[in-house]
Amino acid sequence: SLSDKLQNIFKNLRGKGRLTEEDVKAALKEVKIALLEADVNFKVVKDFVKKVNERAVGQDVMNSLTPGQMVIKIVNEELTNLMGSETTELKLLPDNQITVIMMMGLQGAGKTTTTAKIAGKLKAKGKRPLLVACDVYRPAAIEQLKINGEKQQVPVFSMGDKQKPLNIAKAAIEHAKKNNNNVVILDTAGRLHVDEDMMNELVEIRDNIELTQTVLVVDAMTGQDAVNVAKEFNEKIGIDGIIVTKLDGDTRGGAALSIKAITGKPILYIGMGEKLSDLEQFHPDRMASRILGMGDVLSLIEKAEQSIDQDKAKEMEQRLKKAQFTFDDYLEYMSQIKNMGGLSSLLSMMPGVGGKINDDMLPDEKQLGKIEAIIYSMTKEERSNPDVINPSRKQRIAKGAGVDISQVNKLVKQFEQARKMMKSMPGLMGGKGKKKRGG
Ligand code: GDP
Ligand code: MG
Repeated sequence: SLSDKLQNIFKNLRGKGRLTEEDVKAALKEVKIALLEADVNFKVVKDFVKKVNERAVGQDVMNSLTPGQMVIKIVNEELTNLMGSETTELKLLPDNQITVIMMMGLQGAGKTTTTAKIAGKLKAKGKRPLLVACDVYRPAAIEQLKINGEKQQVPVFSMGDKQKPLNIAKAAIEHAKKNNNNVVILDTAGRLHVDEDMMNELVEIRDNIELTQTVLVVDAMTGQDAVNVAKEFNEKIGIDGIIVTKLDGDTRGGAALSIKAITGKPILYIGMGEKLSDLEQFHPDRMASRILGMGDVLSLIEKAEQSIDQDKAKEMEQRLKKAQFTFDDYLEYMSQIKNMGGLSSLLSMMPGVGGKINDDMLPDEKQLGKIEAIIYSMTKEERSNPDVINPSRKQRIAKGAGVDISQVNKLVKQFEQARKMMKSMPGLMGGKGKKKRGG
């Protein structure tokens, strides 16, 4: 399987002390093959590998990670990005308006089941859903929705199998208005394959009813087919969100990955079983771990990240307590920033920092070399006791670093601001961990 393959690749990488360009290439070649074998779309794989390669080659390996772990980290992050970097919610109108959701997909994808699953979630949120039987072709479809609706204790609207779906949908919305339902979910018919009748029927509903959103339901077990289905529905009807069902089996996440990448539309939920409670919010990072099959490795990486974070944090906190944050610390910050692949990733490791830091407190990452030069041009005394830096010393430092005095001024100012901010937040470096990653 993909997971086994990737684990093997990274086992090999992990044994090595240093990551070369060749290592990255070799590993990515295997990643590529593995993803393709897992039924991930060819174009998606190609773009993905290119992106990871660009990021990985030439990047410093974090102190506490092995080169192999570093590659895993990048692969995982990019995979997460590819699947949408955050969770997306079903779009719901305010309670005094009627949200209309059209479920669509091939026969057997899980529309009817998922419709009932969603109804349960909405009900728990205090919404008043109405399920609508628009599948007039499969004999048992209406009955199936009724049974599911009953299980969820939500009303089901149907008009038998003699009306066209558009008329049923229109009548259902009227019914909802009268009965104080504020979410209408249309369970439409599927065919075994994408065909024109099905599409026309959906287009007719789309063009004549004000839909809040269209949701495509796809079966993860159908692999590449699911990708083609998603592409076609998106082109012909337009999809706002996707639900991938049957991820409870041993299906690889390949389809989910490709669908998101190809359509650009978010995955809202994943179906994790036949029970009506088996619908989970989609978490891109968890899916990435699942595809990689390396939850354990990832949590190891996370621990490593936290341990440097916390070692340094403790040290820093002690200095702060003594109000001794110096240019040497600042310099250390700079090198940490470089090691960790940028300012944003450093900041993201520091609990509670995010919004409190603004751009002018910290230098432009491209200026790091210059800043180092300035700090190295300071005497030991100046570095540990910045208060002694007067104008004439600034003059000398600027000369030594080969920069303009205004740049020295700017750095001193940034340093003062950083120091002030840190003093004002004594709990800043506290031991709270980063958010947990699922697996
Ligand atoms: P529809 O034709 O698209 O309406 O599909 P159905 O809702 O009738 O589902 C088809 C079959 O898939 C049923 O047997 C469902 O119980 C099953 N099913 C739906 N979602 C899931 C899921 O997430 N996991 C599993 N294991 N089965 C599912
Ligand atoms: Mg159905």
